[in-house]
Amino acid sequence: MNSLVATSRNFRKAACLLGLDSKLEKSLLIPFREVKVECTIPKDDGTMASYVGFRVQHDNSRGPMKGGIRYHPEVDPDEVNALAQLMTWKTAVVDLPYGGAKGGIGCSPRDLSKSELERLTRVFTQKIHDLIGIHTDIPAPDMGTNSQTMAWILDEYSKFHGHSPAVVTGKPIDLGGSLGREAATGRGVVYATEALLAEYGKSISGMTFVIQGFGNVGSWAARLIHERGGRIIALSDITGAMEDPRGIDIPALLKHKGEGGLLNDFQGATPMDANELLIHECDVLLPCALGGVLNRENAGEVKAKFIIEAANHPTDPEADEILSKKGVVILPDIYTNAGGVTVSYFEWVQNIQGFMWDEEKVNVELQRYMRKAFENIKAMCRTHSCSLRMGAFTLGVSRVARATLLRGWGA
Ligand code: GLU
Repeated sequence: MNSLVATSRNFRKAACLLGLDSKLEKSLLIPFREVKVECTIPKDDGTMASYVGFRVQHDNSRGPMKGGIRYHPEVDPDEVNALAQLMTWKTAVVDLPYGGAKGGIGCSPRDLSKSELERLTRVFTQKIHDLIGIHTDIPAPDMGTNSQTMAWILDEYSKFHGHSPAVVTGKPIDLGGSLGREAATGRGVVYATEALLAEYGKSISGMTFVIQGFGNVGSWAARLIHERGGRIIALSDITGAMEDPRGIDIPALLKHKGEGGLLNDFQGATPMDANELLIHECDVLLPCALGGVLNRENAGEVKAKFIIEAANHPTDPEADEILSKKGVVILPDIYTNAGGVTVSYFEWVQNIQGFMWDEEKVNVELQRYMRKAFENIKAMCRTHSCSLRMGAFTLGVSRVARATLLRGWGA
């Protein structure tokens, strides 16, 4: 299912549970601004190449718009729109003083050299520099981008507006990045998982996990789950999938990858069919990669008891229904992966204050935000007798709706 249709469907369900005025509902759905720009760069071989860049600013009623920039071949207007909308609900769920935005460039970053990526990022920044800003819209890393990308955006933006570290988050530490930001999304996923399992009288220790995706989020989640005694019995990335019923040696795999090795040439586990990964027997399944991976084709075969949505919209609404009927508990993306944007908020606060927190403070505060949001979601679930997904959506949407009304919507 198209990601924008899927996201909007969840929003409408929440709006209905909340009894929102239909005109307000429509207004909350329409993005504040959508921008599409042409980015042409010389490649290293001297030929020219053109790419399309997007920035969708969804809503700013609670504060500056916030969200990542994604470099991926599947970046298109609907996908960016859906992800921008999810950022609006996500920042509200964890009660950050932000709205939502998302950007991206349709490209395959693996096929571009570092200098080509730098040129592309600088051209994109030139095209959107007057739309972003410390108090308007603050980009961050997402799939296919990282702290280096943020450093280039900061440098290019500063040529127009003067040195402005708080215009992007997820920066390198040397340029005002926050300690703990690199690990934050994966760490937040683990705090969220702990909060959920505690509800069922369980903990990570001794449970079996399957992880799809071993990028920033998946690898940090794997490391922290392993440290807590969780057994990761299967995992995958785009190069392949592997399993070991005794638990994959995550420190050895991280060392192998750190030395430049690919996941599929790691010798410490048995290769498996990547298509079987999501339906592998386990207690907890963590999709940490792309959207829409759980759909009506595979949902019926899922064996996990808990699904932790570390990726953005990994479960489409049809799969959601099938899984819920089977009694699978799903921890929704707009809560589960909010640790990244939460520590982005801490980074922005530190930049504005000109004061650096130590890593322990970052992690303690992150855990506090994640725990509080989980309690708030549970309260919404009780009020509306609904799933955790609808608990999170009604929490986020009601906060945005209240801010919109207080600011004088319709006046
Ligand atoms: N890209 C991340 C997300 O989807 C982080 C966004 C941010 O830090 O602004 O939540």
